[in-house]
Amino acid sequence: MQQNPWKMKMIRNDIGVFTEKGGTIAYLTSKKGIVVVDSEFPEQSQHLIDELKKQNNPSFDLLMNTHHHGDHAYGNQVWVDNGATPVAHLGVLEEMKKYETGYYGGKPGRWEDSARSRKDVAASRLKPPTLLYRTEMIFNDGKHRVELLHFGVAHTHGDGFAWLPKEKILIEADAYNPPEANAPPPPSISPLFVTLFDNIQRLKLDVDQIAPFHGRIVTMTDLRAAVGKQSASN
Ligand SMILES: [Zn+2]
Ligand SMILES: [Zn+2]
Repeated sequence: MQQNPWKMKMIRNDIGVFTEKGGTIAYLTSKKGIVVVDSEFPEQSQHLIDELKKQNNPSFDLLMNTHHHGDHAYGNQVWVDNGATPVAHLGVLEEMKKYETGYYGGKPGRWEDSARSRKDVAASRLKPPTLLYRTEMIFNDGKHRVELLHFGVAHTHGDGFAWLPKEKILIEADAYNPPEANAPPPPSISPLFVTLFDNIQRLKLDVDQIAPFHGRIVTMTDLRAAVGKQSASN
C-alpha cells in the first residue's frame, strides 16, 4: 500500500498540524468551523481538506496567511472553493501587488513562474486575502480564541502570527525555523529569531509551544536558547 506523502499530528485535542514537502499547515477544528494557518500549494491544501472532510462534515471558516510567499499562500483558492475566507495582514496584500504582477494585470510574476514547474499551481489561481487587518484581528468562536498579530516588518512586510492564548501556542512562519533537535548551534544568532523573541517579551505573550511552518514544534525554551538566553529571567 502506498503511503500518503503527508503527516498529520494533533498537538492538542482539536489543534493539529499537517506536514508535507517541508511545510506545515496548522489547523484548528471545532464543530463550529475550521481555522487554518497557511495553505502551502494547491495540492497540499487539497490533501488536508480531503482529510478534514473525512471527519464530521466540517465547515471551513478562515484561512490565515502568515505572509505572501508561494509555499504559504498559493493554495488559497482551494480553501476559498471550500468556503473559507482568506485573511492576512494588510502587508500581505501589498507584497502580492508588488510580486504577483500577472494577477494584477501586469507582466508575469511569481505565480506564473511557479506554474511553469507545478501542475497544481498551473491548474489553480492566485487568491489574495480578502479580509485584512492592520495591527490585530481576533477570531473567537466561543471555545477558541485566535489572535492574528503583526509584530512589524521582519521576514516580509506583512508577517502575521496566530496566537492562541488559552493553549499558549504561537503559530509562526519564517520568523523562527527551528533547526533539528540535535543540530550543532549555528555560528551566529539570526536577527529574525531575536526580533521574534523580543516581540514575545514586549507583548508579554506567555508562549508555551511554538508551531512553525518550517521545522518541528518547539517550546519557548528552544527559542530562548536559539537567541542565546538560557534562563527564564532574561
Ligand atoms: Zn517566507
Ligand atoms: Zn517559508
